[in-house]
Amino acid sequence: MIRISGIKLAIDRAELEIKERLLARLKIRDNELVDYSIFKRSIDARRREQIFFVYTVDAVVSNEQKVLSRFKEDKDIVVTPNLEYEYVVAGLAPLENRPIIIGSGPAGLFAGLILAQMGYMPLILERGEDVDKRTEAVKNFWRTGKLNPQCNVQFGEGGAGTFSDGKLTTLIRDLRCRKVLEEMVEAGAPEEIIYSHKPHVGTDILRTVVKNIRQKIEGLGGEVRFGARVTGLEINSNRVMGVIVNDSDRIPAEAVILAIGHSARDTFQMLYDLGTKLTPKAFSMGVRIEHPQQLIDLAQYKQFAGHPRLGPAEYKLSYHSPSGRSAYTFCMCPGGVVVAAASEEGAVVTNGMSEHARNEANANSALLVSVTPGDFPSKHPLAGVDFQRKWEQRAFQLGGGTYQAPAQLVGDFLKNRPSSSWGSITPSYSRGVTMTDLKLSLPDYVTAVLREAIPYFEQKLKGFALADALMTGVETRSSSPVRIERNDQRESNIAGLYPAGEGAGYAGGIVSAAVDGIRVAEAVAQRFKPLGVES
Ligand code: FAD
Repeated sequence: MIRISGIKLAIDRAELEIKERLLARLKIRDNELVDYSIFKRSIDARRREQIFFVYTVDAVVSNEQKVLSRFKEDKDIVVTPNLEYEYVVAGLAPLENRPIIIGSGPAGLFAGLILAQMGYMPLILERGEDVDKRTEAVKNFWRTGKLNPQCNVQFGEGGAGTFSDGKLTTLIRDLRCRKVLEEMVEAGAPEEIIYSHKPHVGTDILRTVVKNIRQKIEGLGGEVRFGARVTGLEINSNRVMGVIVNDSDRIPAEAVILAIGHSARDTFQMLYDLGTKLTPKAFSMGVRIEHPQQLIDLAQYKQFAGHPRLGPAEYKLSYHSPSGRSAYTFCMCPGGVVVAAASEEGAVVTNGMSEHARNEANANSALLVSVTPGDFPSKHPLAGVDFQRKWEQRAFQLGGGTYQAPAQLVGDFLKNRPSSSWGSITPSYSRGVTMTDLKLSLPDYVTAVLREAIPYFEQKLKGFALADALMTGVETRSSSPVRIERNDQRESNIAGLYPAGEGAGYAGGIVSAAVDGIRVAEAVAQRFKPLGVES
């Protein structure tokens, strides 16, 4: 197969025209092109007068060597690299019990899938409920304010990303990313996530995807247990021997993958008490900011705003303050809503989510400032958790103690005065907001950097500092405040215990957490042979 990059088509041109371009570019006739598929599609909006889709295409031609020989010096025409996922060779150490995976987020689910595909019949233990019951629990919380601390936006089947925008962009360069996207497509995600430059699924489709992946694992001999919170580990001579579920049941295991996410504070504490090596880690905190989606479309696409082939526009902004801290936008959700994402009682946490159609009126994004272990109240490995909790509880009180979130208009925030009502933008936060002064629920240095960053972002994205834009707080779960240390074999200081994903501090986002889950599954597979396999 031949890979051809840089095929540019104006957004009004039909995708069918790719074929004509291919023939012209490769200098071949129609009957010499056997087949072609899009490998990647990105948007080039740098020129005011026209927006382009830029395609990378894989083509099967009848005389590949001859065609390639004509383009030896052309770096845009090359042999398509092999991107197929290759399973590792299984190790020799015997297993008496199936591997256990704690958590069914992207890291746990993909660790489970790979191990199931390799014949290890893993057992996944998930504290929350299956996605259908979980959806009910989350909706009930948003409606009534009754939080289920075991089953919420952070906990349950599919992990933290289930109620999300389902953005699948990642900064990591790893061939396993393609395996993740291919499995998601097989499980019901739209095929375009494979080639889109900014792939996204949406919470509505993601819920089906995670359920189908779980059923695939079960079909391969794995098992997933919901309502199964791991409350302890059995350790002997610094080696894991099993796990304790719901303070009662003991399940033996020699290999345990810890894919618990960044919000399992009780589990972090349990790990600390058992002597697992944990270190505090920098993360970011701030607010969600909402603008009219139309304003973002106009700022990004000008006269092409609203073009049906472009979809709602996104943005990504960053600012480096002379104070040494950075502010940046994160996890932007075009046409989405701000969600109540708490997992602990008496605390308010914001995040963002959208459906596949991304057709809500507001765009929202996290607007965050970096915080480091030096900001935490002590040097304790879990001090970052205490730090998060303090500001989440402040936001809860400031919101009125009913899980409403404190909110403020950007105009008032910049003028350092409280807001008493919202303006032209209706807040989308699922539990409702209390208009107030957000600085009361943020550290002073975070407030200060946000006040510098917003006018700077206005220069980059017209309308960002709109006086009516709405800020809702607090966003504290941008990434894990803790790292669970692991060695080159991806094992913690306790033998047989393998930290994975975002909670362990080795990933951020759905795809990178899934990829890390795969890496850790590979480490387990390279060490142990599947159950029942003779040497
Ligand atoms: P998690 O997904 O957090 O999964 C951990 C799982 O472990 C949970 O299901 C939890 O219930 C379970 N667990 C924890 N402790 C125990 C225990 N003791 N026993 C049993 N089970 C346990 N990322 C993106 O890339 N794109 C997005 O659009 C996006 N949007 C997001 C929107 C929201 C609202 C949220 C909350 C997050 C979003 N993220 C997004 C981040 C993304 O979801 C995470 O990076 C990702 O889910 C991390 O995967 P993980 O498997 O490491 O952990």
